[in-house]
Amino acid sequence: MIVFDHVSKTYPNGVKGLIDVCLTINDGDYVSIIGLSGAGKSTLLRSINRLNEITEGEITIDGRSVTKANKRELKRIRRTIGLISQQFNLVKRSTVQKNVLSGKLGYYSTLKSVFGLFSRQDYELCADVLKKVELSDKLHERCDNLSGGQQQRVSIARTLFQEASIILADEPVASLDPATSQEILSELKNINTAMGKTVIVNIHSIGLAKQFSDRILALQDGRLVFDGKPE
Ligand code: ADP
Repeated sequence: MIVFDHVSKTYPNGVKGLIDVCLTINDGDYVSIIGLSGAGKSTLLRSINRLNEITEGEITIDGRSVTKANKRELKRIRRTIGLISQQFNLVKRSTVQKNVLSGKLGYYSTLKSVFGLFSRQDYELCADVLKKVELSDKLHERCDNLSGGQQQRVSIARTLFQEASIILADEPVASLDPATSQEILSELKNINTAMGKTVIVNIHSIGLAKQFSDRILALQDGRLVFDGKPE
């Protein structure tokens, strides 16, 4: 369970990204966050894994404070949270397999990571998650040879390999065509229903938000102005 308790964010230049947001997201929810550009969607989403530092209030996950976590605790919390973004954030010149394996770097020591010392179980899990997103045949393909939709499926596979229980998707379909957008959001929905993972998606299409979500949050100028069912 993710809890926002009177959360505000004022950027150093004085811009208010979030204003007094209170909300609870339950385990296994599929929530879409809608709002105009600049409404605070990205600020809200990225405050969950503390890529954005809030300036007031507190965020907890399963009762543990993200806001007050020290470096070590934060690292542990971040292992449980996968992030998917509009730009896919893949190492384009690397293979699909290497990009997926990088999902577990937060688990290993720097030394182990640098030398890429993954176990047989890691390789098996990697193959398994690529099968889930129907990319088994692309294991050794370089990511820059893949379509946008396939690249986004690699980044979804990376969060599954990471074994994250929460998936944050920041405008995951903003650079994809309508058919591919449907495909990617269906994939996220399947993961939500079949694997019970909490999925939180920033999206500017109200139609897509309504189609896939159990719950919609709407932001306007940093304030939460709607929290309810899609209908
Ligand atoms: P959205 O994701 O809904 O487009 P953002 O969360 O990116 O909105 O931005 C919310 C507000 O915070 C906007 O007014 C934006 O200009 C501002 N903002 C975002 N990032 C920064 C930053 N690093 N410094 C200053 N202002 C920022």
